[in-house]
Amino acid sequence: MSYEFDLFVIGAGSGGVRAARFAAGFGAKVAVAESRYLGGTCVNVGCVPKKFLVYGAHFADDFEQASGFGWSSGEPAFDWPILIANKNREIQRLNGIYRNLLVNSGVTLLEGHAKLLGPHEVEINGQRHSAKHILIATGGWPQVPDIPGKELAITSNEAFFLEQLPKRVLVVGGGYIAVEFASIFHGLGAETSLLYRKDLFLRGFDGAVRKHLKEELEKKGLDLQFNTDIARIERQADGSLLATLKDGRELATDCVFYATGRRPMLDNLGLENTGVELNDKGFIQVNEQFATSEPSILALGDVIGRVQLTPVALAEGMAVARRLFKPEEYRTLDYSLIPTAVFSLPNIATVGLSEEQAREEGYEVKVFESRFRPMKLTLTESQERTLMKLVVDGKTDKVLGCHMVGPESGEIVQGLAVALKAGATKRIFDETLGIHPTAAEEFVTMRTPVGS
Ligand SMILES: Cc1cc2nc3c(=O)[nH]c(=O)nc-3n(C[C@H](O)[C@H](O)[C@H](O)COP(=O)(O)OP(=O)(O)OC[C@H]3O[C@@H](n4cnc5c(N)ncnc54)[C@H](O)[C@@H]3O)c2cc1C
Repeated sequence: MSYEFDLFVIGAGSGGVRAARFAAGFGAKVAVAESRYLGGTCVNVGCVPKKFLVYGAHFADDFEQASGFGWSSGEPAFDWPILIANKNREIQRLNGIYRNLLVNSGVTLLEGHAKLLGPHEVEINGQRHSAKHILIATGGWPQVPDIPGKELAITSNEAFFLEQLPKRVLVVGGGYIAVEFASIFHGLGAETSLLYRKDLFLRGFDGAVRKHLKEELEKKGLDLQFNTDIARIERQADGSLLATLKDGRELATDCVFYATGRRPMLDNLGLENTGVELNDKGFIQVNEQFATSEPSILALGDVIGRVQLTPVALAEGMAVARRLFKPEEYRTLDYSLIPTAVFSLPNIATVGLSEEQAREEGYEVKVFESRFRPMKLTLTESQERTLMKLVVDGKTDKVLGCHMVGPESGEIVQGLAVALKAGATKRIFDETLGIHPTAAEEFVTMRTPVGS
């Protein structure tokens, strides 16, 4: 049987674009369908615009700290529409780059909503297309709990396009997106509260990291409220919002921002016309090689709900392209030791096991920890402290996890991830010379375990 395309990719986000470009590079005839924006979530309403807002929010600290170094200027003023317009312009430029990347690699770009009609058939803009393989890379979508007034709340999708910075914001959620946006709104000057229904945010991160961030955010004046949740939201006569909590308290605000999880984007995708099955969490079920239960259809990225990060979607895209069109170069994807950052202010970065995970897995754990006031802040009023932590296997001396809360921690931990991937022991960390004076050198100078 002959098909119009060797590979039809649904979704031009991180994973879809990577798979399409590499498949085309390996000689396959490839089409990509995109219904919304080239580059997907990361470029348009995720990592990229988020990082711009975090940079923007950090200037609040920079202005304050500058006086310690002798600088003075007028009262700083922030203009949200300028930041958003500049961010939009840069993202438009990136959309253009994605278009060129696809077109220049010989991929046929089809703009519109794609729907599966069968195991080898897709419909887009009223046209049917056939393909030997179909790749679902449709990503995810924010999920807001079903409470009265939920239509008055916003999610990350809308936050990036608000016309004005709200004066007061309630951020709801305990994951990294909630924590990052709480830092953004607070840093840019909104009176911000973060509400989370459990004891402490960032479940799964190292306990010391979570606690340290909580203390630092509170020092900055962010209002953190744990073990609490919103029962309903109402619009007030003056246009503001009133959130009634489950414990009966009422909080007046101008914006309720939900970051309470993301669901797979399967809307009107036509899965019912195929044998593709979902797992118990509602994400597309795939095997180790990203094949669904329909042999001709594969899936990757956020829609399979494994690790919802751009570098993971990229690696999965690469693996799919190789598996289909360059099998001699295919390697099973290794999901261990994925480094991640939370761009809260201060930042968090981490790679490997938390102390709690290491203990649960039965390691004889040695912990090395350092807490200090970063050198740059010693000339300023800021009392912000940095945390660095190493989790080491007492038996083999292998470093199992590196954790940091502090400025530029993502930049620092990326390099340490290479060391962990190479199986570095604590002794190798100890034998590595520092770069002086930096914060990062602390990771190679921690000598005495704090607990074992
Ligand atoms: C606020 C926020 C911040 C984030 N920050 C980070 C970060 O700092 N670091 C990080 O690594 N990750 C971050 N992420 C996660 C990251 O964005 C995702 O993991 C990544 O984009 C997933 O890539 P993907 O290819 O699976 O899907 P996506 O990038 O979501 O792409 C899916 C694409 O498919 C399109 N599509 C969907 N259905 C159809 C259809 N039927 N027909 C045609 N097209 C369709 C969509 O329009 C979309 O463009 C963030 C996410 C959010 C929401």
